[in-house]
Amino acid sequence: MPSEMTPDEFRAAAHQAVDWIADYLRDVRELPVLPQVAPGSLVDRLPSAGPEQGEPMEAIFKDFRDLIVPGTTHWNHPRFFAYFAISGSGPGILGEMLAAALNVNHMLWKSGPAATELEQVTLGWLRQWLGLPEDFFGIIHDTATTSTHHAILAAREFVSPATRRTGEFPALVLYTSEHANSSVDKSALAAGVGLANIRHVPTDLDFRMRPDALAAMIEEDLASGKKPFCVVPTVGTTSTSSVDPVLQIGAIARSHGLWLHVDAAYAGPAAVLEEYRHILDGAAQADSIVVNPHKWLFTPVDLSALYTRRPDVMRRALSLEEAPAYLKTDDLARAVNLSEYSLALGRRFRSLKLWFVLRYYGREGIARVMRRHLDAAQDFAHEIEKDPRFELAAPVPFSLVCFRYRGSDQENRELLERINATGRAFLSGTVLHGRFVLRLAIGNIATTTEDVWETWELIQRCANSSRAREGGDGSSPED
Ligand code: PLP
Repeated sequence: MPSEMTPDEFRAAAHQAVDWIADYLRDVRELPVLPQVAPGSLVDRLPSAGPEQGEPMEAIFKDFRDLIVPGTTHWNHPRFFAYFAISGSGPGILGEMLAAALNVNHMLWKSGPAATELEQVTLGWLRQWLGLPEDFFGIIHDTATTSTHHAILAAREFVSPATRRTGEFPALVLYTSEHANSSVDKSALAAGVGLANIRHVPTDLDFRMRPDALAAMIEEDLASGKKPFCVVPTVGTTSTSSVDPVLQIGAIARSHGLWLHVDAAYAGPAAVLEEYRHILDGAAQADSIVVNPHKWLFTPVDLSALYTRRPDVMRRALSLEEAPAYLKTDDLARAVNLSEYSLALGRRFRSLKLWFVLRYYGREGIARVMRRHLDAAQDFAHEIEKDPRFELAAPVPFSLVCFRYRGSDQENRELLERINATGRAFLSGTVLHGRFVLRLAIGNIATTTEDVWETWELIQRCANSSRAREGGDGSSPED
């Protein structure tokens, strides 16, 4: 075995891989969305130690097809409706492949001029499409969790600049809704905000943060000597996609000098549509906002965009006063060193795949797919409303529908299991107002109206067969 892959060998293997990808994207609809595997099954089938001698690409590729693919949950399946559905779109995959080939690490402008500047350009385009102000500085992170963690570190620097020197800070309190994503709590914990100081503001009947409750909590904490420092409303919460009233929340945050970070990881991209612009009302006054192109903007995982109105504070929070000798660069006016705004020194060329996606589809193409998803969600919700066996469990502001079978939690959990066990679709669940509900989240670029329609028929068949089973008839949803 030669120690290096020659260009000719690479070419042959790459053609094979690209053929496989094209076939996969064409045929993925026929695969079971969820694999029928038990925990440990791959570990048991693979050698417990790595190979002493290199192996031919044929053998590696065969095992990829025979062992890895059958153990994969197909997030790129058009009937993947769990969590928030995402897309590894064609142009996004190509951008990812080329980024791997360049293997750039643009920690400094000099170490990756094009990667640094493309990150600024793509985030500038996206910022305009979302209607965010021109002075918002954008940086790419891997996930919304990392973006939010950076926002909270900047918020800490903003309200307690002395902490940088002393390592000490007052009892900083962060406010987010009881429906915020768990990443907000985790990010705060990792920034040294104690669990007791992460306040979950109650929501209204439609799962939106209550500004009156937020204001009361802040007053209470101030009265007890604590230091409120950050408020995190969500545009598109994880359980139901509800939208917190960012304008009102922002006014309260500003009146107390708090940092406002908006988590628009899932729903933010909908602001690309003129008729959905309003969802980011109030975001222009935010100190930071996160939007995830790897959720609903057809860009392969991972790519999260963090914007801030205060890049100077972000930089103070995440850079050293004096760069180590090995990172010193000439001070060129337009040369941004992105590692000065992020915890990680190294950064991969993520903007390339975003650039491919934004250029290939254009704003109109992206808007067209999103409208298809939004319409399909409304149609599905109407079917739920028309069927006396089911009920909607939350409003449907975007492409996520929360619903339940009119029965016990146990029946709903069993129904979800029956649907997912067919392999024909994958939905997830959550708990709302103390009751278990099913979630159908539309977001994959290949999902058609027919996919949603077929899934609705599958859900009905599964509900019928659950009922029949209770009545003693053993019919299966596949019948
Ligand atoms: N914020 C919201 C509203 C989410 O729904 C999610 C994940 O679904 C996250 C943040 C975390 O995203 P990531 O996986 O990119 O950290």
